[in-house]
Amino acid sequence: MGVGGKFWDLLKPYAKNEGFNHLRDKRVAVDLSFWIVQHQTAIKNHTRAPHLRLIFFRTINLFAKFGAFPVFVVDGTPSPLKAQARIARFYRGSIDSSSLPVAEEGVSVERNREFLKFVQNCVELLELFGMPVLKAKGEAEALCAQLNSEGHVDACITADSDAFLFGAKCVIKSITPNSKEPFECYYISDIEAGLGLKRKHLIAISLLVGNDHDLNGVQGIGLDTALQFVQKFSEDEILKSLHDIGYGDTPQCLDLKYTDDARVCSNESSPKKKSSHCSFCGHPGSKRVHFKFSCEFCNKGDIDGCIKKPVGFKCNCSYCDKNRKEKEQKRHENWWIKVCNKITMESNFPNDEIIEMYICDNHGQFPANNVSSISWQIPKTDMIVDFLVFHLHWEPSYIRQMILPMLSTIYLREMATTPVKALLYEQYEFHSIHRVKIRYGYPSYVVKWKKASYSVGSYTVPDEECDLHQEELMEANESFDLLDESNNPQIHVVDGCWFLLTDENMELVHSAFPKEVDGFLQDKELRDLKRGKTSSLRSEGSNKKLESQKSVGVQLSITEFYRSAKVQNQGKLGEDLAKNLNSQGGGTSKEKRKASSANLSKSTRRRLFSG
Ligand SMILES: [Zn+2]
Ligand SMILES: [Zn+2]
Ligand SMILES: [Zn+2]
Repeated sequence: MGVGGKFWDLLKPYAKNEGFNHLRDKRVAVDLSFWIVQHQTAIKNHTRAPHLRLIFFRTINLFAKFGAFPVFVVDGTPSPLKAQARIARFYRGSIDSSSLPVAEEGVSVERNREFLKFVQNCVELLELFGMPVLKAKGEAEALCAQLNSEGHVDACITADSDAFLFGAKCVIKSITPNSKEPFECYYISDIEAGLGLKRKHLIAISLLVGNDHDLNGVQGIGLDTALQFVQKFSEDEILKSLHDIGYGDTPQCLDLKYTDDARVCSNESSPKKKSSHCSFCGHPGSKRVHFKFSCEFCNKGDIDGCIKKPVGFKCNCSYCDKNRKEKEQKRHENWWIKVCNKITMESNFPNDEIIEMYICDNHGQFPANNVSSISWQIPKTDMIVDFLVFHLHWEPSYIRQMILPMLSTIYLREMATTPVKALLYEQYEFHSIHRVKIRYGYPSYVVKWKKASYSVGSYTVPDEECDLHQEELMEANESFDLLDESNNPQIHVVDGCWFLLTDENMELVHSAFPKEVDGFLQDKELRDLKRGKTSSLRSEGSNKKLESQKSVGVQLSITEFYRSAKVQNQGKLGEDLAKNLNSQGGGTSKEKRKASSANLSKSTRRRLFSG
């Protein structure tokens, strides 16, 4: 989508893969339509309402895992061509964003209506999440880009290369949630430095090769030609020059590389004198003369006679040099005239409407001078549960579990600014920092939350036992959140005491609970010191030891734990838990960690619900 040809391939060398914390505490505009069409065929076939599933997990990831503040943007009235291309893509179920957008005929009115309904569903979900959703006048990526160029957001998430034409400074083309560098970013500054292209150059290229609004562009001009052509102009003159050429007014060939010396030479050299060369060695002179007097270029040292010229021999005498430059110049001028002629031949080129659309910087129905109108509200959890039970037929406990990272992020942010004695999701209180966890090279804290209502009269965990779990562990099993899903949070049960574990950003936890973090760090230092003394002993059986330590506590995704804040039914939980623990007994810690993947937690959940 966006500029035709292999435009993204052209930009690819200037991509920067940014790390895990790149978007933390930053605002980012999300082209919602593009997210919706990006669902994979695999999900599409196995999930009901794949677009809602995708938006659900991506939003939570973006907000909680990456700590960003997303602003979602939906299309207003996109150009018919673009709408068609998008919808066709949605129903094809896969994208190849580098290919020329194909407007497929036969996108029916019903399909169009259905797609708009999908978008509307997503907007409803996002609004329940408390996310700001803006409506563009036309293209969503246009408003994303405008928000970016006016400094309201730091980046745009879209795979539509048009965003640069609309003024975007940083475009995040794709996000791979489970990788060391999840964000594929393109900065207009890098594109300018690398290719010498500014915004209006890019607009010119899109006019020449085609775009979503004029699929064909100029007949016979491909991306390579367009690139070479626009590079000859400055940003200020390029669009005006296209107009001039469109009217048949071909400007002088502006290529400095050749004009300087070649032009001067061609004036000097008239009248031309043909200079003869030796057919054997290729040097100035002739074979006959060289035979008599030997060639001054060949005959260095004691070799007599000419040396046969190698294949591809280039004579460097001033005559040949000049000759070559003139030919090159001629070839270049011919190319220039050919391109200009093609442009002149194109009717109604360049299209002023399209140019105006790209440069107008007026794409939104939002009060531009009132940025504070963009705000993030507390998610309406119970309504989200109802909404997703209805649309996706998910179990409420599962939905609550999956939303929790978002709530804990908000909770920690609130605690950091105005510490109050409130509970997370009205039921969990900060207990401690469980351990440091390293995912993809980035450390985070695993925060231990205690379910407030269960804590009454229940077993408290002795300190030493806590220590056992505060190991730094590399996360090996990353495979189950391939579909943007997350294994965060988890349940941790120690001797009948329930804890919730969430992965949180270290700085955020520190600013919310500075004393607790300092305490944790001091303890950790002490432990590390102790460990250092006995390291030789530990190194042998450390794996085994770790396993046995881990089995003291069990990490299970028992989603019965995630009840509505309103529900206070806790009677049978202890029994069920005991049953469940028995059924899990005997496994290694690794198996138990795996047990938190979706399949098993479902059966566990069923058992708990029926019990
Ligand atoms: Zn010779
Ligand atoms: Zn020679
Ligand atoms: Zn020569």
